[in-house]
Amino acid sequence: MRSYPADYELITPGNLDVVLCLLRDEPNQWTPIAGGTEIMVLYGAGKLLARKLVSIWPLPELREIVEDGDFISIGGGCSFTQIGRHPGIQKHFPLLAQCASWIGGIANQNRGTIGGNLANASPAADSAPALFAYDAEIEVISARGSRRIPYSQFHLGYKKTALAPDELIHAVRLPRRFDGALRYVRKVGTRNAQAISKICMAATGNLRHGRVEEIRIGMGSMAPAPLRLTATEQVLLGAALSDATIAEARKALSNETTPIDDIRSTASYRSLVAGNLLEEMLRSFAASGALK
Ligand SMILES: Cc1cc2nc3c(=O)[nH]c(=O)nc-3n(C[C@H](O)[C@H](O)[C@H](O)COP(=O)(O)OP(=O)(O)OC[C@H]3O[C@@H](n4cnc5c(N)ncnc54)[C@H](O)[C@@H]3O)c2cc1C
Repeated sequence: MRSYPADYELITPGNLDVVLCLLRDEPNQWTPIAGGTEIMVLYGAGKLLARKLVSIWPLPELREIVEDGDFISIGGGCSFTQIGRHPGIQKHFPLLAQCASWIGGIANQNRGTIGGNLANASPAADSAPALFAYDAEIEVISARGSRRIPYSQFHLGYKKTALAPDELIHAVRLPRRFDGALRYVRKVGTRNAQAISKICMAATGNLRHGRVEEIRIGMGSMAPAPLRLTATEQVLLGAALSDATIAEARKALSNETTPIDDIRSTASYRSLVAGNLLEEMLRSFAASGALK
């Protein structure tokens, strides 16, 4: 039988201000725990280094989805079940609703939160590509106040984010300007449920007179952190989606990604399939754009 160290402490203040003051007053001492689907795996494996945990699961300020004018604001403590079932997200941000539906299994979606997915910062985080595609911004909060970080600047490296130790992800804000956009999302995994992505891609875009007017492409599992393909986007902007452009975009993708071999896949498989997904996306955009 495995034995667990007894010196863990879990507190549940149930009040946002108390949590924020604790993170300010005892820096790097307390680790927030939301749904616990990442933290409890580490605990179960005997690898959880953090000894003092403060629960943010019951905080109402983190559990709301608010539609305010030009944005939808999704609380950092919202579960993927809540996100996937929300009518406003289903209608205006279907790529995110789709990603929510394939994170782990039902139990995971009931407990796993969007804040936990982003703060944990796995390169394979499945909500990430859709957030790049929708040009999200992250609202963070601390006892010092709040600030907004464009999601494209949130990931700084492997498991490194722009979050300071005293900050929580308060909300993910999505601008409501993608209703008519072309869109694409695909997860490649061993099976549909309970499989971490080998690769995940999401994109939104617009064509004007047959040329790419706007495009945002997010990818998972192709770099040390979730990645927005800005160099590939630059190749595409203003171009017609010809075979030559698509070939050039595949090359740009290959240059700006750094996939690795791991237990789920190989670097060469990831490179090949990522290029195929890009091409599938661009050809579907070209076909839908022609019908507009
Ligand atoms: C069986 C299984 C299958 C899974 N499948 C997938 C999958 O297919 N796709 C996928 O992307 N993930 C998957 N996951 C990973 C996990 O479920 C998600 O990353 C989930 O979103 C984590 O959220 P949480 O609330 O449970 O995080 P927690 O475990 O509570 O926390 C994770 C980290 O985030 C920090 N944190 C949490 N909330 C906040 C906040 N609001 N502000 C600041 N920091 C915060 C915590 O301090 C901790 O460091 C799977 C996990 C398991 C166990």
